[in-house]
Amino acid sequence: METLYHSTRSADELVTSKQAILAGIAPDGGLYVSDQLGQERVDVAMVAAQDYHATARDVLGILLSDYTADEIASCVAGAYGENFDTPSVTPLAPLGADWLLELYHGPTCAFKDVALQMLPRLMSVAREGDGHTVMIVTATSGDTGKAALEGFADVPGTGVTVFYPDGKVSDIQRLQMVTQSGANVAVAGIRGTFDDAQTQVKGIFADAGVGARLAEAGTVLSSANSINVGRLVPQVTYYMDAYAQLVRRGAITLGDAVDYCVPTGNFGDVLAGYYAKRLGLPVGRLIVASNTNKVLTDFIETGTYDRRRTFAKTISPSMDILVSSNLERLLYHLTDGDCERVSTWMGELSERGAYTLPTELMDRMRETFACGFATDDDTRAAIRRTWEDERVLIDPHTAVGACVLGRRASEGRARVCLSTANPYKFSADVLAALGVETGGMDGFACMDALQELTGVEAPVRLSGLRRAAVLHPDVCDQSEMAGFVEAACARVFA
Ligand SMILES: *Cc1c(COP(=O)(O)O)cnc(C)c1O
Repeated sequence: METLYHSTRSADELVTSKQAILAGIAPDGGLYVSDQLGQERVDVAMVAAQDYHATARDVLGILLSDYTADEIASCVAGAYGENFDTPSVTPLAPLGADWLLELYHGPTCAFKDVALQMLPRLMSVAREGDGHTVMIVTATSGDTGKAALEGFADVPGTGVTVFYPDGKVSDIQRLQMVTQSGANVAVAGIRGTFDDAQTQVKGIFADAGVGARLAEAGTVLSSANSINVGRLVPQVTYYMDAYAQLVRRGAITLGDAVDYCVPTGNFGDVLAGYYAKRLGLPVGRLIVASNTNKVLTDFIETGTYDRRRTFAKTISPSMDILVSSNLERLLYHLTDGDCERVSTWMGELSERGAYTLPTELMDRMRETFACGFATDDDTRAAIRRTWEDERVLIDPHTAVGACVLGRRASEGRARVCLSTANPYKFSADVLAALGVETGGMDGFACMDALQELTGVEAPVRLSGLRRAAVLHPDVCDQSEMAGFVEAACARVFA
């Protein structure tokens, strides 16, 4: 049976998962969902007995069933091979009485690799036969751009262009991007903020002139952002694999429910946990952990989603988000597929900035979802406590999760905190949390000092950047961005 998808806002047009992955977002602005979610389930006993690759093949086989078994097997082998620095892909480590799921062993040392090593391969297979080339265009505040570059570099038939706000990403983040190799990549800093870059990118997508010129050359533009089904689905795997690791370690018995605490921004990662549950994994609670931008905590507590608030810049920047796009998918599933109500709420969110769910739906959501938030001070305290008490070094995003989890009373289940970035990606903030004065130190000096202090080794993928050649020195004005994309297409697809 083929799994079909349609928009969260209308069930009229059904598409295959390949079509959904190529399109990214539905034409009406909704997100692709499937009414078959949960009809076919994984065999948990089998999951417990097999490796990451086998579970990834099972999950993709169910949710992306128009891909052949061979296509899926080759995507999985390519995505989770030597490019991860451990064969277990996402290893589990003890954190006191709880567990830490290390999602940062991919090429960019953050969890987005798990999805962005897979998405380009899924796209490449999906576009086979349609003759078009695909240029991915992304604006980044730091992490996503590099993960997209690593994912799409040298993938046949695709190219990737990344814009970052010059002077507003960390030294390490900038070097990660401007040293990126690959014949199909383009990177430029822009004079402006992340929001400026994002606005311009949306403008490029909407520009009919650009679209027509590219179409003539056989190229379509696409984005790699986290609402794509091809990013969501690969993330389901590690919830299952973490469960398997717990069984194998004897920490749980097959069938026991497990709680997962997830540092959240766009609600993508934690939604993947909900999908894992719908596929039959014994999930107890999904704990949504936010930073000071606690729009989700307030929503889960009150039933009102309200983005009308001051945006806070925190030390967990990848979670600095006020509109958690993937929540729309959960609303669809919570209402048993009521497109009309989902559309109404999303309309209210964009027009008024807020919407409120009825009590019975919130009660339903709270059966699975719990929440909490951590300020920057809480986050630093969690980094320090985790290091001093457990000798485990965590990054600020993970620390938001660890803080929220630490405050909750255990409900008697095993608990897993998702660890979303290597601490060395945020060396300065981690070092400061450990009480070291970092004024005047650059990214590498912080990395060295943190290594000296803790004895935890910095990943070569980050420390090696100091010797890497800068391949993409361009910094352009916002008005030059569309031209930059067209030039990149001409060069890459020549
Ligand atoms: C993107 C990101 C998150 C948030 O993930 P969502 O899927 O947006 O909830 C958390 N931590 C890190 C390090 C990230 O890069």
